[in-house]
Amino acid sequence: MAAASPAGNRSVAPPHIRTLIGALSLIFAIAIALAVPAAYYTLGAEDSADALDFKGRLSASRVEKFIFANDRLWRYQSDRIAELIAYPDGNGEPIRQRVTDTRGKLVLQESLDLLSPVQAARTPIVVGGTTIGWLDAEVSLRPLVRRTAFVAAGSCALGFVAWLLVRLLAIRALDTTLSRLAMESTRFQAALHNMTQGLCLFDSRNRLTVFNRRFTDMFGAPAEGQTAAELGTLLAPPGPDLERDPDDRVHELPDGRVIQVVRRPVPQEGWVATFEDITERRRTQAQLLHMAWHDALTGLPNRAMFHDHLQRAAPAVRRGHALAVICIDLDGFTTVNDTLGHPVGDELLRQVADRLRENTRETDLVARIGGDEFAIVQSDAEQPSDVLSLTDRLHGILRFPFQIGGQNIEIDACMGVVLADPEQLAPDELLRNADIALCRAKADGRGVCRFFEPAMDADIRQRREMEADLRVALAEEQFEVFYQPLIEADSESLTGFEALIRWRHPARGLVPPGAFIALTEATGLIKPIGAWVLTTACAEAARWPGHLKVAINLSPVQFESGVLAEDIAFALATSGLAPHRLELEITESVLLRDTDATIGLLRRLHDLGVRISMDDFGTGYSSLSYLRRFPFDKIKIDRSFVQNLDGCKGSLEIVRAVVGLGKALGMDVLAEGVETEPQMRLLQVEGCDELQGYLFSKPRPAGDIPAMIAAFSPVLAAEAAD
Ligand code: C2E
Ligand code: CA
Ligand code: CA
Repeated sequence: MAAASPAGNRSVAPPHIRTLIGALSLIFAIAIALAVPAAYYTLGAEDSADALDFKGRLSASRVEKFIFANDRLWRYQSDRIAELIAYPDGNGEPIRQRVTDTRGKLVLQESLDLLSPVQAARTPIVVGGTTIGWLDAEVSLRPLVRRTAFVAAGSCALGFVAWLLVRLLAIRALDTTLSRLAMESTRFQAALHNMTQGLCLFDSRNRLTVFNRRFTDMFGAPAEGQTAAELGTLLAPPGPDLERDPDDRVHELPDGRVIQVVRRPVPQEGWVATFEDITERRRTQAQLLHMAWHDALTGLPNRAMFHDHLQRAAPAVRRGHALAVICIDLDGFTTVNDTLGHPVGDELLRQVADRLRENTRETDLVARIGGDEFAIVQSDAEQPSDVLSLTDRLHGILRFPFQIGGQNIEIDACMGVVLADPEQLAPDELLRNADIALCRAKADGRGVCRFFEPAMDADIRQRREMEADLRVALAEEQFEVFYQPLIEADSESLTGFEALIRWRHPARGLVPPGAFIALTEATGLIKPIGAWVLTTACAEAARWPGHLKVAINLSPVQFESGVLAEDIAFALATSGLAPHRLELEITESVLLRDTDATIGLLRRLHDLGVRISMDDFGTGYSSLSYLRRFPFDKIKIDRSFVQNLDGCKGSLEIVRAVVGLGKALGMDVLAEGVETEPQMRLLQVEGCDELQGYLFSKPRPAGDIPAMIAAFSPVLAAEAAD
């Protein structure tokens, strides 16, 4: 702290203190002025008294010796005595001596005038043990008085100077101290009143001694000398052991304010209390906490809270309560996001969140744990059937169209379920297993729900490896397209080929599509692979003679990519294949996600001349209804019906019905999986337009195509040879 100097000459010391200082310094000065000459005089007088005494005793002893020798007559021998005592006085003042007898009769007196004052010393003259007279020595103190007067003059001057100095220095020191105190006090006041906290100081009797402005702002002005108890509960005197147990408390006031009160002992005083209004801080804390635990978009609990909830639920499960974790992944969400934009995607997520919340119980927790991934902790799920009824209900509500910006949006969801058991409760593990079940579900198609089984774990690992292999396969062109002839039923001649992919795995050999297509769909790899099949098969078909067509399978996932139209256009453009020679085979699962975009795309392709076939007809559960949605060019009856033709009567009826339907709707009907001659005959009789199956040929590599053409269409083979 900088020492404060008094401003200018103006003293800050109060007048009475200054008068007091003046008086004290004056006394000090007077004391100096008096003490010095007094001491000087006293010492001088003592010296001269000593000298007198010495001289008196010397003279007396001389007189004594003389008397001892001369007996009684000494009184009359004044001349002789005068000689005896007349010797020099040294360098002191001249001394006058007088001798008297015991009766007071003067024997002798030296003639010397002494100016007053005079100092005298009497020495007895003792002879033979009897005092027979006195020797008086006298000296004038006038010179000493004169010198003392000089000394007094000097000491008065000194006293005056001392008076001036002491007064000045004392007032200045006082000023410095006072102004430092004043400044400290100002600072203290400034600090006290500008604190963001309210402050109260109480003495040891719990009486209010100091409080600041903030305190008054917060609680109104307290009355002078109020006790802590009188100031209300907020200030009720602290417990006796504040020293050992400092006191921090948070009070919620009836007016909604939250006040934090901190109380600490003050050494040798009483105690101090500070008050902080933490209402706002509490609110932001609560907001931050909400933000930390919730997803901003949907307001649902987030992954962190989900974890926390699972952790808290664990003890209940150990006591025998059941708990299930359901992971939900939306099918088709990426398409919505990519084709309709993120605002629509966001709104869709919000609506999904609302539906999930509305359709679960209070005790269940619904969280958003990823982009389009949600998770539910279902408590009291005693058996798988309880979970199933929930997942069924959720499937129902999620399939129900969403209305966003005047559009009807249909999606679906896959679910993975894990039932917690007391052995297996770690949130991470539960979530991981639910996720594994979800992966399994996604791999099995849209809208699938799977319960976790330990075997899935190994399965998933295998799938991961295979996925890596597939990526390598794509990069290293390990895929190949095989072709299977399509035969006109009546003439038994070739109309085209279906392109069927194969994977020539370096270790496993030729892998059929059934072993990897699902995985490529789940991972999205089907998009580049499908595009590759399109260009490869179209380029191949462009080299075939005449009108021969190529049928290419499309996966529903390719429709979600948003680039399918471009892929097809690219394949046609680079190969130069006429659009009407291209047939696209889709299954009803494509139409299951019947978005306007899918139908629109199919229509545009159809308008270009590309033919659209419905594949695997009869295996889905609503194949018939889909026929109405889009004007297919061809229906392919699934091979399961063809294979059952010999034994099962129902299959024949179905084939007959489909053929009738095709005729009525103007669609060609192809029967797949024809393996025997009798099957072929039957299908010919029933009026199928086309046949396909091992009876004619298995799918073969492109190199075998000329041979197949030669076998099934000698005319064309001849044309091609030309
Ligand atoms: P799909 O479209 O129904 O193809 C017909 C499947 O039936 C082929 O199996 C074919 O080899 C088999 N098949 C043909 N005739 C007979 C027969 O007489 N008896 C029997 N038992 N089977 C016969 P593949 O080649 O294993 O293909 C299986 C499935 O993989 C296909 O079923 C198709 O859904 C899918 N797939 C094949 N290639 C592609 C492709 O390039 N893209 C897409 N998205 N899927 C493909
Ligand atoms: Ca097919
Ligand atoms: Ca088929």
